[in-house]
Amino acid sequence: MAKAVRKVGEKEVSIGGPVPQVKPGEKLVRRTASVCPVCYRLIPAIIVERDGKLYIRKVCPEHGETEELYRGAFLDMYNKFMKFYTTRSYLQNPIFDAGRPCPYNCGLCPLHMSHTGLLNIVVTNRCDLSCRYCFFYAERAGFVYEPTIDQIREMIRTAHKQGIRAKAIQLTGGEPTMRDDLVEIVRAVREENITHVQLNTHIIRLAYDYELTRKLREAGVNTVYMSFDGVTPNVNTKNHREVPYFFENARKAKMTSLVLVPTVIRGRNTDQLGAIIEFAARNMDVVRSVNFQPVSLVGQMKRHERERYRITIPEVIKLIEEQTNGQIPHDARYPVPAAAVISEFIAAFTGKPQPAFTSHPVCGAGTYVYVERKGDEIKYIPITAFVDVDGLLERMMKVAEDFKAGRISKSRFLMKGIYELEKFVDKRKQPKGIDIIKMLYKIIVRHDYSTLGEFHYRFLFLGMMHFQDPYNYDVDRVRRCVIHYGTPDGRVIPFCAFNVFPELYRDYIQKEFSIPLEEREKEHGKTEKYVRSQELIKKLESGEPYIKHYKPFRHLRKK
Ligand code: SF4
Repeated sequence: MAKAVRKVGEKEVSIGGPVPQVKPGEKLVRRTASVCPVCYRLIPAIIVERDGKLYIRKVCPEHGETEELYRGAFLDMYNKFMKFYTTRSYLQNPIFDAGRPCPYNCGLCPLHMSHTGLLNIVVTNRCDLSCRYCFFYAERAGFVYEPTIDQIREMIRTAHKQGIRAKAIQLTGGEPTMRDDLVEIVRAVREENITHVQLNTHIIRLAYDYELTRKLREAGVNTVYMSFDGVTPNVNTKNHREVPYFFENARKAKMTSLVLVPTVIRGRNTDQLGAIIEFAARNMDVVRSVNFQPVSLVGQMKRHERERYRITIPEVIKLIEEQTNGQIPHDARYPVPAAAVISEFIAAFTGKPQPAFTSHPVCGAGTYVYVERKGDEIKYIPITAFVDVDGLLERMMKVAEDFKAGRISKSRFLMKGIYELEKFVDKRKQPKGIDIIKMLYKIIVRHDYSTLGEFHYRFLFLGMMHFQDPYNYDVDRVRRCVIHYGTPDGRVIPFCAFNVFPELYRDYIQKEFSIPLEEREKEHGKTEKYVRSQELIKKLESGEPYIKHYKPFRHLRKK
């Protein structure tokens, strides 16, 4: 039997607790494990259905019962998504020994089910903003964490020991542009057999510094993953006024793969989800995707406070359906592991294992939308309007299984898997200038990644990722996580362990590899904070890029 208490990072965590009961009027959906939001005790949890919604419930022997909304709409979508749940492990070589139970043994330990899809590397915990809700910057932590380029290289090499190599890296922070050697970091990362570098930034420095934008692009930044919470200044307090100036710099620097990342908070920006998509659609020369992130609730919050802000993926999808007048319907969405079906198909076809995004189906959702513009009018055509995605994925899954089991030959595999693609496409409904069969054929048969790129340039990807918090924590999800962090102590740690338990992972590790804030400030001075004076606001708002980008959204500002 497992020991009742384990030391993890700075903390002692208890293991075990009572099994929660299903209450009258509820239906048990599944059992999992979770944590107590007060003491992190690892305890059994149940997911129950009640009044058309799903809730997760657990009971800590010391701190009592916690119940949290798990999915707030569309139970049929939950069932559709769970068809992509896999019990097979995709992790070839664990990096860390078994020892403690999940999620207190990261990583990656032998219990983990997925290899790294995207490796995050924190390059600094400094930031020049001090957002009220952020706990992750040097002044609050009291230390400065900035790994050396050699340490960064080592983190990538460690992650690559898993077998299947993550080809995508995200440089994150803090604010990565605080590092004066960021361009060199990008170059070093590209030298480590990384084909995709994503920069997670608030873009403020880039809005003012075209040269830096250009140098980063030339060094190998493919995608800028940028915060964008809404189209008005009261909603997007972080970078509203700077975004248009950054877009202009990005255009000039040919940085044409921007991802807008709205953190969705109920009551704060939930009436601007359609507008955010429209903003992306109007700037498709540089924007490839919108990735909505329903808020993760950190710190001690009472239930009524959590209910005020909490929103789940299906509720965001419902609001988008409403705010786009039904043009982007909820059933156009698929969970992240749907992409793993295509990877499996290619792996069967080539005989080579392919990177597969096998995260838990509940973690994210996505769809592709074709944007049709007539003058100022915008129309969205979801891919499901002309491709039978369900039928196609089911077919691919079946054919790949039959081939792997030796039930069909290679030629038959080709015939069934590829030449039958046509059956799943309604050519009459596909947008003008798009030949979806040709595109899919090139992606699957030729592994032509430039075609994948072309696909991304023709469509707008609408993604969604709901990172966990201690209230809705589902251990079954974190075990399948594909978004990991590299750390200088030679570990690879899943996102929802790294950030949800900072004393055990993020802060604990970074502190060990940091210098005290005072010491750094003595040598380099204080990190200068970005302040918008009234004069600066006036100047930014009267500039041509600002007026041009926000003109279609002015009516929302007046509200
Ligand atoms: S999240 Fe993964 S790596 Fe961490 S303890 Fe659980 S199974 Fe192991």
